[in-house]
Amino acid sequence: MSTGGIEPQIDRPQQSLIRRIAASFRPYLSQITIVGLLILFTAGLGVVNPLMIRVIFDSALFPESGSPNLNLLWIIAGVMAGITVVTGAIGIVQTYVTNQVGQKVMRDLRDRLYRHLQTLSLGFFTGTKTGEIQSRVTNDVGGVQNVVTSTITDILSNIVILISTVIAMAILSWQLTLVAVGIVPVFAFLTRIVGEKRRAVSAEVQKSTAEMTAITQETLSISGIMLSKLFGRQKLEIERFHWENQHLSDLVVRRQMTGQSFWAVMQTFFSISPVIIYVLAGYLISGIGRDGISPGTIIAFTTLQARLYFPIGTLLQVSVELQSSMALFERIFEYLDIKADIVDDPEAVDIQPERVAGAIRFDSVRVNYVSNNEEAQESAKTGDPEPRWALDGIDFEILPGQLAAFVGPSGAGKTTISYLIPRLYDANEGRVLIDGIDVRKIKLESLSRMIGYVSQENYLFHASIRNNLLYSKPDATQDEMEAAAKAAYIHERIMEFADGYDTIVGERGYRMSGGERQRLSIARVILHQPKLLILDEATSALDSASERYVQAALEPLMKGRTTVAIAHRLSTIMAADVIFAIDRGRIVERGTHSQLLSRGGLYAQLYDEQFQGGKVECHCEDGVVFSDGTVAFAEDGRLTTSR
Ligand code: ADP
Repeated sequence: MSTGGIEPQIDRPQQSLIRRIAASFRPYLSQITIVGLLILFTAGLGVVNPLMIRVIFDSALFPESGSPNLNLLWIIAGVMAGITVVTGAIGIVQTYVTNQVGQKVMRDLRDRLYRHLQTLSLGFFTGTKTGEIQSRVTNDVGGVQNVVTSTITDILSNIVILISTVIAMAILSWQLTLVAVGIVPVFAFLTRIVGEKRRAVSAEVQKSTAEMTAITQETLSISGIMLSKLFGRQKLEIERFHWENQHLSDLVVRRQMTGQSFWAVMQTFFSISPVIIYVLAGYLISGIGRDGISPGTIIAFTTLQARLYFPIGTLLQVSVELQSSMALFERIFEYLDIKADIVDDPEAVDIQPERVAGAIRFDSVRVNYVSNNEEAQESAKTGDPEPRWALDGIDFEILPGQLAAFVGPSGAGKTTISYLIPRLYDANEGRVLIDGIDVRKIKLESLSRMIGYVSQENYLFHASIRNNLLYSKPDATQDEMEAAAKAAYIHERIMEFADGYDTIVGERGYRMSGGERQRLSIARVILHQPKLLILDEATSALDSASERYVQAALEPLMKGRTTVAIAHRLSTIMAADVIFAIDRGRIVERGTHSQLLSRGGLYAQLYDEQFQGGKVECHCEDGVVFSDGTVAFAEDGRLTTSR
């Protein structure tokens, strides 16, 4: 990733990954220590019962004296039962504490990640799939919980179990211990082979599940389903889904089968290994006599054996889990390492909205989305062609209260200009100034308070109309809200809904028409009372009635405010104090409507092509006569057409 003004930057982590992971756990060190001690205690306690078995058999049930020692039997039975109960109770405490720690670490990471993502510039979000971001915030962080509750505790407890078991076995019989430990490599080898196979299939299952989710998300979204219906691609989409679906079900069967063979290997081993011990014990008894290897020793030993292989099996599994957990952390840290490039300068000032006059100036502004300064310098050195500049030396000044219209072909750079004012992006070169102050020296909060942006996107949350409106001013009164809605000509439409202002707006506002959505977002900006207004006018086909409504909604909003309009509406353009015609990142013409028309350049050409579609017969003082007989004239910024 590059390090320019537009692209987010990555500061390669200097600390090692493990140290960073450990740092996430540091606040909970005391709880983790408690868990560690509990694990040590219970795992150690676990070998006591198998050792007791020898005492039960050799001293209580079948003592040398002949008849069973019932007193001893009761005592040992009581101890064994007590140990089991205590271990169980400690297990409950341990689970509680580990889950608490796990959840807290997860909560902290999620918070940190979300807080950080909020500070990243628009550039990061346009360059990253939404699903990818969601997945890191929810799935990856979610996976971290496992690291604490199972991976780390599994490692610790199994190591303790392993060591204590080997010691206990050696106490019982060192000869049998040598053999039991000697067959461990065979066991490890077998479980490893089957385990690897199982993991490979599991990874494929995950990939296939993700693919299914992606297909479903893409093709069953509103836009996706529209696209497939409109292009008649349903049959193909159904086939694609079916193929992936079939693939997934085959894989799941394979996963089950490899899982089964994994358990088969484990089971076989668990059954065979005591048999080996019995045979060996037979030879030992006939060699060194019954004293060395008593029946109680054999029973206790074979009981302990399960405690030897099971932890090894688990540790082999856990080592892989640990790797994938590390990968999860790495993915989370990767996002946390992306430098927030658009942040408050230490010297940034707070400006009260009432003190803003509203002058906007661009001073030799250059913006390059793809590359950055370093690369540009590099390419200049190596003689590569210069990267393409989305804005290439933009200079202009808009006076307080003026309406400035930006026109130009698609991709000319109009939206980019509008993005620089509220610092959705920063310029790579040059300066953007509001009332003579570089926007980079104004606090972001002040900027968002003074600027209102009506974009083509008109994003509405899946919430009530009221909540959508109040987003710009949470403390607005009902009267203020209704006044804004009335000014935006949407109040009456809202009142037609049974639930009025409490009507829930559908996903991305789909239950409302394009014009209604626009008016609602205009009402939202009216409530915000910005000093500077940016309008990215929709080219999308609003019918002429909606268009007029939207226009009427905008007029009171523009009054007394500096307005930057990416203009597609004839009325906006004709009423503009100054028009800038943009082409390939440069201002090619500037002036008023009539000045630009009489020049007969880009603006005149756009104007003829875009508006009314007809050939312009006459550019009169306050209107235009088209060849089809339509007359368009602007009066107080309002467009009226007549035949
Ligand atoms: P307009 O609003 O005039 O249609 P834009 O300002 O949207 O033009 O785009 C100007 C140029 O910058 C175009 O060539 C466009 O492809 C490019 N561009 C816009 N946004 C991005 C982005 N996020 N990443 C890369 N290039 C972009």
